[in-house]
Formats: sequence, structure tokens, C-alpha cells
Amino acid sequence: MENKGISRAVIKRLPRYYRYLGELKEEGVERISSSELSSKMKVTASQIRQDLNNFGGFGQQGYGYNVNYLFNEIGRILGIDKKNNMIVIGAGNMGQALTKYTSFRSYGFDIIGVFDVNANLIGKSINGIVVQDYSEVASFIRNNPVDIAVLTVPKEAAGSIAEYLVQLGIHAFWNFAYTDLRLGPGIVVENVHLSDSLLRLSYEVKSKGASND
Ligand code: ATP
Repeated sequence: MENKGISRAVIKRLPRYYRYLGELKEEGVERISSSELSSKMKVTASQIRQDLNNFGGFGQQGYGYNVNYLFNEIGRILGIDKKNNMIVIGAGNMGQALTKYTSFRSYGFDIIGVFDVNANLIGKSINGIVVQDYSEVASFIRNNPVDIAVLTVPKEAAGSIAEYLVQLGIHAFWNFAYTDLRLGPGIVVENVHLSDSLLRLSYEVKSKGASND
């Protein structure tokens, strides 16, 4: 199926479709209409039809969408029909939490290595994965297929680590360091800033407080 030229806005919504369709699948639902999906997801039915039409229109008028087919196709478009090996750089609180969080595995994301420079952390086992000395990362990447690097290091260290990993052949970064990494053409970065999210919440809390005054 052709999925070139899909807008970023649609791609951003796909994980949510994937999640809801997964739940429907678990409930044994085989078909769903755009209006039923619409009331479940609190998105307009026309938005759903428009979004899903990008992929060649899985739906049929009056017949609804085949949940299983749509789930698998969206999974394929998102690239989770294959396994992705990840390494975590930085075994502090955030790196350890992500390494312990096993839910990504169900999407085929496997953490296969964790690295740090701190001698107190090197050798420690996190969820069965032993933290390795960061100086070993190049040989690890040479000997193991690594698709994604997760960066959970201080922001001052993130840029140079990312550039080094790019030289070693890593093209995808899940960046939790509190800085926006931009690494040039062909390198994909998903910056995840939990603090930004918390500040947005803070604004909402404050505005709500103001409207209640
Ligand atoms: P967190 O922010 O995850 O709670 P923390 O507060 O313990 O962790 P940070 O200063 O944010 O520590 O660093 C996160 C981890 O990154 C630490 O374990 C630190 O040793 C590690 N680290 C720092 N610099 C590097 C580097 N250049 N290469 C690899 N790991 C590094």
C-alpha cells in the first residue's frame, strides 16, 4: 500500500487509531463504522474518514472498517510489523525507568543494551540488562543490529553523543534530554520533553484556577 506524502498531522494521529483498534480487536469487534469509531475516539467521523482515506480507503460504505485489517495496516505503516532494537544511553532515573518499562516490547521495541559513564552504574543489572561502559558502545553497535538510540543523558551531553552515534551508523533517536536535537538529513529524531508537557498542564491548571475565581 502506498503511504508516501501522508501529512505529519495524520501520522501523529495514527498511534491513537492503532491503540483504539487494538482495544477493539481485543474485545473481539470485527467491524466498526466511522461514526462508532468517532464516538469512541471523540474525533469527528469525517476526520476519521479523511485520515483513513489516505491509505487507500479501507472502509466500505455501509459496511464499516475491518478492525483487524486496519490494525495490521496501520501497524505496518508505523513500522511496527518488524522488530526494532534499541540502546539506551544514560542509565540515570529516566534511562532505568524506560529500561524497566516492558510495554514497548509488545510493539516490537527491544532494549538490547544500556550504557553509561558512571562507574557506580556500570555492571548494574536493570531488568536483566547489564549497564555497559559507554566506551564500549562503538563495538556493541558493530556487533549488534541497533535501530534506535534512546538518549537519557544531560542536555549538555546529548548533542555530541548523538553525533558520535550517527557516525557509528545510528539514524534514529528517541531523545529525552531536555534539548531539541537536530541532526541533519536522513536522521530522524523524536524529541520527548516531559517537562514541556508538565508546563502545559501547569498552564491549564492555572487558567482553570483563574476561571473559577
Ligand atoms: P535522570 O536525569 O535520568 O534522572 P540523573 O539525575 O541521575 O538521571 P543526569 O545528570 O540526568 O542524571 O544523567 C543521566 C545519566 O546520564 C547519568 O547516569 C549519567 O552518568 C549519564 N551520562 C552523563 N554523561 C554521559 C555520557 N557522556 N555518556 C553516557 N552517559 C552519560
